[in-house]
Amino acid sequence: MSYHVNEKGYYGQFGGAFIPEMLYPNVEELRLNYLKVMAEPDFKKEFDQLLKDYVGRPTPLYFAKRLSAKYNTKIYLKREDLCHTGAHKINNTIGQILMAKRLKKTRIIAETGAGQHGVATATVCALAGLECIVYMGEIDIARQAPNVARMKMLGAEVRPALSGSRTLKDATNEAIRDWINNPVDTHYIIGSAVGPHPYPDMVARFQSVVSEETKWQLKKVEGRENPDYVVACVGGGSNAAGAYYHYLNETEVKLIAVEAAGKGIYTGESAATSVLGKEGVIHGSKTLLMQTNDGQITEPYSISAGLDYPGVGPMHAHLYETKRAEFISVTDDEAMTAGLELSQLEGIIPAIETSHALAIFEDKKFKPEDVVVISLSGRGDKDLNTYIDYFKL
Ligand SMILES: *Cc1c(COP(=O)(O)O)cnc(C)c1O
Repeated sequence: MSYHVNEKGYYGQFGGAFIPEMLYPNVEELRLNYLKVMAEPDFKKEFDQLLKDYVGRPTPLYFAKRLSAKYNTKIYLKREDLCHTGAHKINNTIGQILMAKRLKKTRIIAETGAGQHGVATATVCALAGLECIVYMGEIDIARQAPNVARMKMLGAEVRPALSGSRTLKDATNEAIRDWINNPVDTHYIIGSAVGPHPYPDMVARFQSVVSEETKWQLKKVEGRENPDYVVACVGGGSNAAGAYYHYLNETEVKLIAVEAAGKGIYTGESAATSVLGKEGVIHGSKTLLMQTNDGQITEPYSISAGLDYPGVGPMHAHLYETKRAEFISVTDDEAMTAGLELSQLEGIIPAIETSHALAIFEDKKFKPEDVVVISLSGRGDKDLNTYIDYFKL
Protein backbone atom coordinates (compact mmCIF):
# COMPACT_ATOMS: atom_id res chain seq x y z
CA MET A 1 0.00 0.00 0.00
CA SER A 2 1.37 3.43 -0.91
CA TYR A 3 0.28 6.55 0.89
CA HIS A 4 2.23 8.84 -1.38
CA VAL A 5 1.07 10.30 -4.65
CA ASN A 6 1.64 8.20 -7.79
CA GLU A 7 3.04 9.48 -11.09
CA LYS A 8 -0.46 10.25 -12.31
CA GLY A 9 -1.15 12.47 -9.32
CA TYR A 10 -3.40 10.07 -7.41
CA TYR A 11 -3.57 8.79 -3.86
CA GLY A 12 -5.51 5.59 -4.44
CA GLN A 13 -8.72 6.72 -6.12
CA PHE A 14 -8.33 10.37 -5.02
CA GLY A 15 -6.45 13.32 -6.45
CA GLY A 16 -5.75 14.06 -10.11
CA ALA A 17 -6.09 17.41 -11.83
CA PHE A 18 -9.65 18.30 -12.80
CA ILE A 19 -9.09 21.74 -14.24
CA PRO A 20 -10.45 23.87 -17.06
CA GLU A 21 -8.42 23.47 -20.23
CA MET A 22 -7.36 27.12 -20.02
CA LEU A 23 -5.47 26.35 -16.80
CA TYR A 24 -3.66 23.33 -18.17
CA PRO A 25 -0.41 25.11 -19.22
CA ASN A 26 0.02 26.70 -15.76
CA VAL A 27 -0.51 23.49 -13.82
CA GLU A 28 1.54 21.47 -16.31
CA GLU A 29 4.51 23.82 -15.98
CA LEU A 30 4.43 23.32 -12.23
CA ARG A 31 3.96 19.57 -12.50
CA LEU A 32 6.93 19.17 -14.83
CA ASN A 33 9.22 21.29 -12.66
CA TYR A 34 8.36 21.02 -8.98
CA LEU A 35 10.35 17.91 -8.07
CA LYS A 36 13.33 18.98 -10.17
CA VAL A 37 13.39 22.41 -8.52
CA MET A 38 12.96 21.00 -5.01
CA ALA A 39 15.90 18.64 -5.59
CA GLU A 40 18.30 21.43 -6.62
CA PRO A 41 20.98 21.92 -3.94
CA ASP A 42 20.62 25.72 -4.21
CA PHE A 43 16.88 25.52 -3.65
CA LYS A 44 17.28 23.24 -0.64
CA LYS A 45 19.93 25.48 0.83
CA GLU A 46 17.82 28.62 0.51
CA PHE A 47 14.68 26.89 1.82
CA ASP A 48 16.48 25.44 4.84
CA GLN A 49 18.20 28.74 5.59
CA LEU A 50 14.91 30.67 5.55
CA LEU A 51 13.16 28.04 7.65
CA LYS A 52 15.92 28.45 10.19
CA ASP A 53 16.58 32.21 10.24
CA TYR A 54 13.22 33.59 9.17
CA VAL A 55 10.61 31.09 10.36
CA GLY A 56 12.56 30.07 13.47
CA ARG A 57 12.96 26.34 12.87
CA PRO A 58 13.44 23.78 14.20
CA THR A 59 10.36 24.32 16.32
CA PRO A 60 10.59 22.66 19.75
CA LEU A 61 9.08 19.29 20.56
CA TYR A 62 7.79 20.08 24.02
CA PHE A 63 6.89 17.45 26.62
CA ALA A 64 3.63 18.71 28.13
CA LYS A 65 4.10 17.53 31.68
CA ARG A 66 0.87 18.68 33.30
CA LEU A 67 -1.31 17.74 30.35
CA SER A 68 0.37 14.30 30.30
CA ALA A 69 -0.26 13.84 34.02
CA LYS A 70 -3.91 14.71 33.62
CA TYR A 71 -4.51 12.12 30.87
CA ASN A 72 -1.98 9.59 32.16
CA THR A 73 0.02 9.27 28.93
CA LYS A 74 3.08 10.96 27.37
CA ILE A 75 2.05 13.98 25.32
CA TYR A 76 4.50 15.93 23.19
CA LEU A 77 3.53 19.16 21.44
CA LYS A 78 5.21 20.01 18.14
CA ARG A 79 5.32 23.76 18.50
CA GLU A 80 4.33 25.15 15.07
CA ASP A 81 2.66 27.97 17.01
CA LEU A 82 6.15 29.38 17.49
CA CYS A 83 6.74 29.81 13.74
CA HIS A 84 6.95 33.34 12.37
CA THR A 85 3.35 34.54 11.74
CA GLY A 86 2.05 32.06 14.30
CA ALA A 87 1.30 28.82 12.46
CA HIS A 88 2.63 26.10 10.17
CA LYS A 89 1.27 27.82 7.03
CA ILE A 90 4.51 29.77 6.56
CA ASN A 91 6.48 26.57 5.83
CA ASN A 92 4.45 26.13 2.67
CA THR A 93 4.41 29.74 1.54
CA ILE A 94 8.21 30.00 1.93
CA GLY A 95 8.58 26.90 -0.25
CA GLN A 96 6.17 28.17 -2.87
CA ILE A 97 7.65 31.66 -3.11
CA LEU A 98 11.06 30.12 -3.80
CA MET A 99 9.42 27.85 -6.36
CA ALA A 100 7.78 30.88 -8.03
CA LYS A 101 11.13 32.65 -8.26
CA ARG A 102 12.81 29.61 -9.80
CA LEU A 103 10.00 29.51 -12.39
CA LYS A 104 10.64 33.23 -13.08
CA LYS A 105 7.25 34.39 -11.87
CA THR A 106 6.91 38.03 -10.81
CA ARG A 107 3.35 38.12 -9.57
CA ILE A 108 1.71 36.06 -6.82
CA ILE A 109 -1.97 35.38 -6.26
CA ALA A 110 -3.65 33.54 -3.40
CA GLU A 111 -7.09 32.87 -1.98
CA THR A 112 -7.90 33.20 1.68
CA GLY A 113 -10.87 32.51 3.93
CA ALA A 114 -10.10 33.73 7.44
CA GLY A 115 -7.01 35.51 6.18
CA GLN A 116 -4.33 33.28 7.72
CA HIS A 117 -3.06 31.98 4.39
CA GLY A 118 -3.37 35.49 2.93
CA VAL A 119 -1.13 36.84 5.67
CA ALA A 120 1.40 34.01 5.21
CA THR A 121 1.45 34.73 1.46
CA ALA A 122 1.70 38.50 1.85
CA THR A 123 4.59 37.91 4.26
CA VAL A 124 6.68 35.88 1.83
CA CYS A 125 5.87 38.26 -1.04
CA ALA A 126 7.31 41.10 1.02
CA LEU A 127 10.31 38.90 1.80
CA ALA A 128 10.87 38.14 -1.89
CA GLY A 129 9.83 41.54 -3.26
CA LEU A 130 7.05 40.14 -5.46
CA GLU A 131 3.67 41.65 -6.26
CA CYS A 132 0.90 40.04 -4.18
CA ILE A 133 -2.84 39.91 -4.83
CA VAL A 134 -5.04 38.09 -2.32
CA TYR A 135 -8.64 37.22 -3.20
CA MET A 136 -11.01 37.16 -0.28
CA GLY A 137 -14.78 36.90 -0.04
CA GLU A 138 -16.50 40.20 0.71
CA ILE A 139 -18.13 38.66 3.80
CA ASP A 140 -14.78 37.39 5.07
CA ILE A 141 -13.19 40.81 4.52
CA ALA A 142 -15.77 42.28 6.86
CA ARG A 143 -15.37 39.49 9.43
CA GLN A 144 -11.57 39.39 9.46
CA ALA A 145 -10.56 43.04 9.56
CA PRO A 146 -7.26 42.55 11.49
CA ASN A 147 -5.92 40.09 8.91
CA VAL A 148 -6.99 42.36 6.06
CA ALA A 149 -5.04 45.17 7.72
CA ARG A 150 -2.00 42.89 8.13
CA MET A 151 -2.03 41.97 4.44
CA LYS A 152 -2.26 45.63 3.44
CA MET A 153 0.53 46.59 5.80
CA LEU A 154 2.68 43.86 4.22
CA GLY A 155 2.08 45.46 0.83
CA ALA A 156 -0.51 43.08 -0.60
CA GLU A 157 -3.62 44.08 -2.51
CA VAL A 158 -6.78 42.47 -1.12
CA ARG A 159 -9.42 41.99 -3.84
CA PRO A 160 -12.97 41.20 -2.74
CA ALA A 161 -14.84 38.26 -4.28
CA LEU A 162 -18.36 39.56 -4.83
CA SER A 163 -20.11 36.49 -6.24
CA GLY A 164 -21.92 33.55 -4.63
CA SER A 165 -21.76 33.31 -0.85
CA ARG A 166 -18.81 35.78 -0.93
CA THR A 167 -16.61 33.45 1.13
CA LEU A 168 -13.66 31.11 0.54
CA LYS A 169 -14.91 29.14 -2.45
CA ASP A 170 -15.79 32.33 -4.31
CA ALA A 171 -12.34 33.74 -3.54
CA THR A 172 -10.86 30.53 -4.94
CA ASN A 173 -12.88 30.92 -8.15
CA GLU A 174 -11.62 34.48 -8.55
CA ALA A 175 -8.03 33.38 -8.04
CA ILE A 176 -8.41 30.66 -10.67
CA ARG A 177 -9.93 33.17 -13.09
CA ASP A 178 -6.98 35.49 -12.51
CA TRP A 179 -4.50 32.66 -13.13
CA ILE A 180 -6.18 31.76 -16.41
CA ASN A 181 -5.80 35.37 -17.53
CA ASN A 182 -2.17 35.62 -16.41
CA PRO A 183 -0.55 32.30 -17.24
CA VAL A 184 3.00 33.51 -17.92
CA ASP A 185 4.06 35.78 -15.07
CA THR A 186 1.83 34.56 -12.19
CA HIS A 187 2.13 31.79 -9.60
CA TYR A 188 -0.88 30.76 -7.54
CA ILE A 189 0.07 29.89 -3.95
CA ILE A 190 -2.50 27.43 -2.62
CA GLY A 191 -2.66 27.32 1.17
CA SER A 192 -3.37 23.70 2.05
CA ALA A 193 -2.83 20.15 0.79
CA VAL A 194 -5.65 20.61 -1.71
CA GLY A 195 -6.05 21.59 -5.37
CA PRO A 196 -5.03 19.86 -8.60
CA HIS A 197 -1.91 17.70 -8.71
CA PRO A 198 0.90 18.61 -8.02
CA TYR A 199 -0.30 20.99 -5.28
CA PRO A 200 -1.25 18.45 -2.59
CA ASP A 201 2.08 16.68 -2.97
CA MET A 202 4.11 19.88 -3.19
CA VAL A 203 2.45 21.35 -0.08
CA ALA A 204 2.88 18.07 1.84
CA ARG A 205 6.58 18.05 0.94
CA PHE A 206 7.08 21.64 2.10
CA GLN A 207 5.31 20.81 5.36
CA SER A 208 7.14 17.51 5.81
CA VAL A 209 9.88 19.34 7.72
CA VAL A 210 7.55 18.95 10.73
CA SER A 211 7.82 15.14 10.91
CA GLU A 212 11.45 15.25 9.77
CA GLU A 213 12.26 17.26 12.90
CA THR A 214 9.95 15.21 15.12
CA LYS A 215 11.96 12.08 14.29
CA TRP A 216 15.32 13.30 15.55
CA GLN A 217 13.80 15.29 18.39
CA LEU A 218 11.92 12.26 19.70
CA LYS A 219 15.00 10.06 19.30
CA LYS A 220 16.85 12.40 21.66
CA VAL A 221 14.26 12.35 24.43
CA GLU A 222 12.60 8.95 24.07
CA GLY A 223 15.38 6.94 22.38
CA ARG A 224 13.14 6.17 19.41
CA GLU A 225 12.14 8.10 16.30
CA ASN A 226 8.61 6.76 16.16
CA PRO A 227 5.85 7.78 18.53
CA ASP A 228 2.82 5.56 19.07
CA TYR A 229 0.45 8.24 17.79
CA VAL A 230 0.61 11.41 15.72
CA VAL A 231 -2.42 13.66 16.09
CA ALA A 232 -3.36 16.67 13.93
CA CYS A 233 -6.43 18.70 13.10
CA VAL A 234 -7.54 18.65 9.46
CA GLY A 235 -8.99 21.53 7.51
CA GLY A 236 -7.58 20.98 4.04
CA GLY A 237 -4.88 18.85 5.59
CA SER A 238 -1.52 20.62 5.39
CA ASN A 239 -0.40 20.55 9.03
CA ALA A 240 -1.53 16.93 9.27
CA ALA A 241 0.30 16.06 6.04
CA GLY A 242 3.49 17.56 7.44
CA ALA A 243 3.15 15.88 10.83
CA TYR A 244 2.42 12.47 9.23
CA TYR A 245 4.71 12.62 6.20
CA HIS A 246 7.78 10.68 7.37
CA TYR A 247 5.57 8.26 9.30
CA LEU A 248 3.19 7.34 6.48
CA ASN A 249 4.92 4.05 5.75
CA GLU A 250 5.81 3.30 9.38
CA THR A 251 2.56 1.55 10.09
CA GLU A 252 3.25 1.00 13.79
CA VAL A 253 2.81 4.77 14.15
CA LYS A 254 -0.93 5.35 14.41
CA LEU A 255 -2.24 8.50 12.75
CA ILE A 256 -5.20 10.43 14.10
CA ALA A 257 -6.96 13.11 12.05
CA VAL A 258 -9.31 15.44 13.91
CA GLU A 259 -12.13 17.16 12.06
CA ALA A 260 -14.51 19.88 13.16
CA ALA A 261 -17.96 18.56 14.03
CA GLY A 262 -19.16 22.13 14.53
CA LYS A 263 -22.39 22.09 16.51
CA GLY A 264 -22.64 18.31 16.03
CA ILE A 265 -22.14 16.07 13.01
CA TYR A 266 -25.83 15.77 12.14
CA THR A 267 -26.97 19.29 13.03
CA GLY A 268 -26.44 20.67 9.53
CA GLU A 269 -23.74 22.90 11.00
CA SER A 270 -20.60 20.82 10.72
CA ALA A 271 -17.39 20.37 8.76
CA ALA A 272 -16.84 16.65 9.49
CA THR A 273 -16.03 15.71 5.90
CA SER A 274 -15.01 12.09 6.51
CA VAL A 275 -18.46 11.31 7.94
CA LEU A 276 -20.61 13.62 5.84
CA GLY A 277 -18.62 13.69 2.60
CA LYS A 278 -18.93 11.68 -0.59
CA GLU A 279 -16.58 11.40 -3.51
CA GLY A 280 -16.63 14.51 -5.66
CA VAL A 281 -14.45 17.13 -7.28
CA ILE A 282 -13.50 20.34 -5.52
CA HIS A 283 -10.73 22.81 -6.33
CA GLY A 284 -9.40 20.59 -9.07
CA SER A 285 -9.07 17.27 -7.29
CA LYS A 286 -11.22 14.24 -6.69
CA THR A 287 -11.69 13.81 -2.98
CA LEU A 288 -14.24 13.49 -0.18
CA LEU A 289 -16.52 16.46 -0.11
CA MET A 290 -19.71 17.58 1.60
CA GLN A 291 -22.41 17.87 -1.04
CA THR A 292 -26.12 17.57 -1.66
CA ASN A 293 -27.56 14.59 -3.54
CA ASP A 294 -27.29 16.48 -6.80
CA GLY A 295 -23.67 17.40 -6.17
CA GLN A 296 -23.92 20.99 -4.89
CA ILE A 297 -21.27 21.78 -2.31
CA THR A 298 -22.76 22.08 1.19
CA GLU A 299 -21.77 25.11 3.28
CA PRO A 300 -19.54 23.84 6.07
CA TYR A 301 -19.58 25.27 9.57
CA SER A 302 -17.04 25.34 12.39
CA ILE A 303 -16.26 27.85 15.11
CA SER A 304 -12.72 27.74 13.76
CA ALA A 305 -12.25 29.51 10.44
CA GLY A 306 -9.34 27.25 9.42
CA LEU A 307 -11.40 24.05 9.63
CA ASP A 308 -14.47 25.50 7.96
CA TYR A 309 -13.85 23.74 4.61
CA PRO A 310 -16.26 21.39 2.81
CA GLY A 311 -13.59 18.89 1.70
CA VAL A 312 -10.30 17.35 2.74
CA GLY A 313 -7.20 17.01 0.58
CA PRO A 314 -6.89 13.84 -1.52
CA MET A 315 -4.11 12.41 0.65
CA HIS A 316 -6.43 12.50 3.65
CA ALA A 317 -9.35 11.04 1.72
CA HIS A 318 -7.04 8.13 0.91
CA LEU A 319 -5.83 7.81 4.52
CA TYR A 320 -9.48 7.65 5.55
CA GLU A 321 -10.51 5.17 2.86
CA THR A 322 -7.59 2.82 3.63
CA LYS A 323 -8.05 3.29 7.39
CA ARG A 324 -4.37 4.29 7.67
CA ALA A 325 -5.60 7.23 9.76
CA GLU A 326 -8.34 7.19 12.34
CA PHE A 327 -10.73 10.14 11.91
CA ILE A 328 -12.30 11.70 15.00
CA SER A 329 -14.68 14.66 15.00
CA VAL A 330 -14.79 17.21 17.77
CA THR A 331 -17.51 19.79 18.40
CA ASP A 332 -17.07 23.53 18.92
CA ASP A 333 -17.73 23.12 22.65
CA GLU A 334 -15.25 20.28 23.09
CA ALA A 335 -12.57 22.23 21.22
CA MET A 336 -13.11 25.44 23.18
CA THR A 337 -12.87 23.55 26.48
CA ALA A 338 -9.64 21.87 25.38
CA GLY A 339 -8.19 25.24 24.33
CA LEU A 340 -8.88 26.70 27.75
CA GLU A 341 -7.43 23.61 29.38
CA LEU A 342 -4.12 23.83 27.49
CA SER A 343 -3.89 27.52 28.35
CA GLN A 344 -4.26 26.83 32.05
CA LEU A 345 -2.28 23.59 32.30
CA GLU A 346 0.67 24.56 30.10
CA GLY A 347 0.54 28.33 29.58
CA ILE A 348 0.03 27.94 25.83
CA ILE A 349 -3.03 29.51 24.18
CA PRO A 350 -3.66 27.44 21.04
CA ALA A 351 -5.41 28.40 17.81
CA ILE A 352 -8.98 27.08 17.86
CA GLU A 353 -8.12 24.76 14.95
CA THR A 354 -5.44 23.20 17.14
CA SER A 355 -7.82 23.01 20.11
CA HIS A 356 -9.76 20.40 18.13
CA ALA A 357 -6.73 18.08 18.12
CA LEU A 358 -6.28 18.63 21.85
CA ALA A 359 -9.89 17.68 22.58
CA ILE A 360 -9.51 13.98 21.75
CA PHE A 361 -8.25 13.10 25.23
CA GLU A 362 -11.69 13.37 26.79
CA ASP A 363 -12.95 10.35 24.85
CA LYS A 364 -9.97 8.47 23.50
CA LYS A 365 -7.84 6.71 26.10
CA PHE A 366 -4.11 6.09 25.78
CA LYS A 367 -1.74 3.86 27.76
CA PRO A 368 0.64 5.46 30.29
CA GLU A 369 3.66 4.41 28.21
CA ASP A 370 2.20 5.66 24.89
CA VAL A 371 4.04 8.51 23.22
CA VAL A 372 1.53 10.86 21.61
CA VAL A 373 2.79 13.69 19.38
CA ILE A 374 0.32 16.48 18.68
CA SER A 375 0.79 19.02 15.92
CA LEU A 376 0.29 22.31 17.75
CA SER A 377 -0.47 23.96 14.44
CA GLY A 378 -0.91 27.56 15.58
CA ARG A 379 -1.19 30.08 18.37
CA GLY A 380 -4.42 31.55 19.65
CA ASP A 381 -3.76 35.29 19.38
CA LYS A 382 -5.92 35.52 16.27
CA ASP A 383 -8.77 33.78 18.13
CA LEU A 384 -8.76 35.81 21.29
CA ASN A 385 -12.06 37.52 20.52
CA THR A 386 -13.76 34.18 19.88
CA TYR A 387 -12.42 32.79 23.17
CA ILE A 388 -13.50 36.00 24.97
CA ASP A 389 -17.05 35.83 23.60
CA TYR A 390 -17.36 32.11 24.26
CA PHE A 391 -16.11 32.11 27.84
CA LYS A 392 -17.34 35.65 28.64
CA LEU A 393 -13.80 36.52 29.81
C1 LIG B 1 -5.18 27.03 8.54
C2 LIG B 1 -4.96 26.34 9.81
C3 LIG B 1 -5.30 24.98 9.99
C4 LIG B 1 -6.01 24.17 8.96
O1 LIG B 1 -5.31 23.98 7.77
P1 LIG B 1 -4.60 22.62 7.39
O2 LIG B 1 -4.18 22.84 5.98
O3 LIG B 1 -5.59 21.52 7.53
O4 LIG B 1 -3.45 22.44 8.30
C5 LIG B 1 -5.00 24.38 11.21
N1 LIG B 1 -4.42 25.07 12.21
C6 LIG B 1 -4.09 26.38 12.08
C7 LIG B 1 -3.45 27.06 13.23
C8 LIG B 1 -4.35 27.04 10.89
O5 LIG B 1 -4.01 28.34 10.78
